[in-house]
Amino acid sequence: MMPKFEVNIAGKKTFITNFGQVSDILGRSPELLLRYLLKEVALPGTTDGHVAVIQGEVKGQLLNKLLERFVREYVICPVCGSPDTRLEKERRGVFLLRCLACGAVTPMKAF
Ligand SMILES: [Zn+2]
Repeated sequence: MMPKFEVNIAGKKTFITNFGQVSDILGRSPELLLRYLLKEVALPGTTDGHVAVIQGEVKGQLLNKLLERFVREYVICPVCGSPDTRLEKERRGVFLLRCLACGAVTPMKAF
């Protein structure tokens, strides 16, 4: 099942209130997921592992679109479609998406 961010905008900051929960469901660290989002929206931000705070206003719709893309590229195995995968850093510029269901190892562009 595809998780969705719960987003609140206040005082020119964007709060993703269920950030830790979404990261858990995807089996990715909150730091990695946030790094992906921040690169895409080109804004600074932080996470304490539970909530993410982006310095600027970003619509929930956009963040959820980016989340879908992250899942498609960095969670779902392109060979068998299983979400039961690990993301390993191989070397500069490359992540390896390792599937625990079918054993496929797929190189992905690092971020
Ligand atoms: Zn697979």
